[in-house]
Amino acid sequence: MTSLSRRKFIYVGAASTGAVLLKGCLGNPPEPTTSQATPDAAPAANIPPEQAPEVSTIKLGFLPIVESAPLIVAKEKGFFAKYGITDVEVSKQANWGAARDNVEIGSAAGGVDGGQWQMPMPYLISEGLITKNNVKIPMYVLAMLNTQGNGIAIAEKQAGKNIGLDMSKAKDYIVGLQKGGTPFRAAYTFPRANQDLWIRYWLAAGGINPDSDVSLLTVPAAQTVANMKTGSMDGFSTGDPWPARIAKDKIGFLAALTAQIWPYHPEEYLAIRADWVDKNPKATKALLKGVMEAQQWCDKLENRAELAAILAKAAYFNVPAAVLEPTLKGEYQMGDGKPEIKDFEKAVLYWKSPRGSVSYPYQSLDLWFITESVRWGFLPPEYLNTAKTLIGKVNREDLWKEAAQEAGIPAADIPANTSRGVEKFFDGKEFNPDNPKAYLDSLAIKKA
Ligand code: CA
Repeated sequence: MTSLSRRKFIYVGAASTGAVLLKGCLGNPPEPTTSQATPDAAPAANIPPEQAPEVSTIKLGFLPIVESAPLIVAKEKGFFAKYGITDVEVSKQANWGAARDNVEIGSAAGGVDGGQWQMPMPYLISEGLITKNNVKIPMYVLAMLNTQGNGIAIAEKQAGKNIGLDMSKAKDYIVGLQKGGTPFRAAYTFPRANQDLWIRYWLAAGGINPDSDVSLLTVPAAQTVANMKTGSMDGFSTGDPWPARIAKDKIGFLAALTAQIWPYHPEEYLAIRADWVDKNPKATKALLKGVMEAQQWCDKLENRAELAAILAKAAYFNVPAAVLEPTLKGEYQMGDGKPEIKDFEKAVLYWKSPRGSVSYPYQSLDLWFITESVRWGFLPPEYLNTAKTLIGKVNREDLWKEAAQEAGIPAADIPANTSRGVEKFFDGKEFNPDNPKAYLDSLAIKKA
């Protein structure tokens, strides 16, 4: 697997999140949080002896983007403690590379047991494709943390060039930049995962080849925004609230929300080292129950102001709540003459969407990430043939279902099928999980 050797991921360690770029508030190594559950913490559940967790402690990593909210809220509101996991450490990670490094070493060596992940990072770690010496560290995907809540921000100097959701209108301009020797440069915080994939999908849908018509790169986030200010970086994709802040601070504007590219798309996930889960299956389900309860709480519009206040704390995002509140309510100033979006259905969602469960880790969505990785040559085509086996190993939707049943989640909210069915994108393309090859064949721009 030379194309995915560690060498190619050397930039990763330098990559950072949007929070770093705008606030420079993150430490490395991660700063343990000291926050205690709030006084209105949930009362302890009546845990049947056969469900009592094997351990009461775990260390979970997070990055300060809205994807992390269910982990932070489960800790702060006492939902983890309610199910017997009384000592969860929610640990801020400096960047995705650091999160990867910390899960490699595990909590016993000062790292983490798991936490928040972009896709398909848990798969790449399990396969030893982004780990030191390509060591395979099996991980389990346990729940989806959120859908939507991400966007693509563009530098102000590119205003007035028809850069928006439909990039076919800006194609000649973008291709012209490449031909003129100053290619459009866009950055993400970790290669070959969500943000890279969203930028690529968006460009390719407009007829722009992300591998030859633009320059895509992993760049330290602080450097990205500094470069967006000076005009030497043109685009950047990450989780809320940071793209919208770039627009609000007039550093640039929003080209598209991921909610527009693929409504109710899979975003980030809870995944934990398999050795931890295998050793502590009841504690894993207890954790899942806490996350599910947090997701239900986070999902309510009436809780979003309080959610902003919780995430704003120094141990978490360390920014004023006012920075977080608008996007949590679906309010996006797009800039560049685009109308403001005020639509809660386009905000980050945590528990339910019109497509069904957000929290349940549909195996069909994991298959899209593997298929899209094949599309861009990030994984060899053979992965399509073996995807089902790999997903069966890494995706533990069975544990999610057991936890949901034990927690008394209504049957209507527990998906009966591991497939979410056909997925539809903004450009009319469809992904049928029963035939990923047909999806690949339908795409004009690809490497595979
Ligand atoms: Ca994200």
